[in-house]
Amino acid sequence: MNRLAGKTALVTGSSRGIGRAIAVRLAREGALVAVHYAVNEQAALETVTTIEKEGGRAFTVRAELGTPGAVHTLFTGLEQGLKERTGEATLDILVNNAAVTGMDGFSPEDVTQEQLDRYFEVNAKAPFLIVQRVLTNMPSGGRVINISSGLTRFANPGQVAYAMTKGALEQVTLHFAKHLGPRGITVNTVAPGITDNGGPIFDVPEAVEQMAGLSVFNRVGEAGDVADVVTFLATDEARWITGAFLDVSGGTLLR
Ligand code: NDP
Repeated sequence: MNRLAGKTALVTGSSRGIGRAIAVRLAREGALVAVHYAVNEQAALETVTTIEKEGGRAFTVRAELGTPGAVHTLFTGLEQGLKERTGEATLDILVNNAAVTGMDGFSPEDVTQEQLDRYFEVNAKAPFLIVQRVLTNMPSGGRVINISSGLTRFANPGQVAYAMTKGALEQVTLHFAKHLGPRGITVNTVAPGITDNGGPIFDVPEAVEQMAGLSVFNRVGEAGDVADVVTFLATDEARWITGAFLDVSGGTLLR
């Protein structure tokens, strides 16, 4: 299929995990993809190689979100990469996927101010600033897709700080969807449940079994389960969906 032929996409945090799967699928549909990463250049290059082996087009962009000037650095690299390949800096699809993840601490009392600041800088402020900045590049028909988490609707006290930042990101969806409707741009949230991102915990059978039990399908999500939904939202088929929260948790939120 070639549903995104002629389109350009930026997937933040696509060196690994869910972001990589999104980048690969968008490219498979014909999009030129900017593979963004923070530090792991080797992994980002592997994403590009995977895309190129399938006949797609991609390039890497580095910017460590949450550090001063990161959004400027990101767009300098993005625009240069796009101009070299297309002659212009138009960006059709933005996927705000990069995030600091993991457990905050064993209980909410253990959350430090430094942790809170870091989570908010990377997971909430950076995506907001990226959406704000991308508007000069994004034409009518554009897509903004924010990757949140089922944790905004599922209490897990040990991850309250992380979940707070995802709640903030969902507000970016809500308000920008209304703001950008007149420009023909859709803005949506995709909320994964526990998803195998290649991290070491997914090599521990007992842990995987326990995590699988959270889904009504009794398995953990694959990165592709999330990436397929993001890809759909990026296509013209999803033109009438905006401001939505898509639960992509394998039914975890039904419990
Ligand atoms: P990973 O930890 O596997 O990958 C994180 C990605 O984000 C990497 O590409 C990493 O780059 C990048 N990144 C991390 N910090 C920064 C930063 N400060 N600046 C720029 N890039 C950064 O993440 P997942 O695939 O697990 O998660 C992807 C998204 O899905 C996240 O938004 C997460 O919150 C959400 N999610 C994930 C779930 C899961 O179970 N996996 C569940 C619910 C939501 P680098 O390689 O250079 O470090």
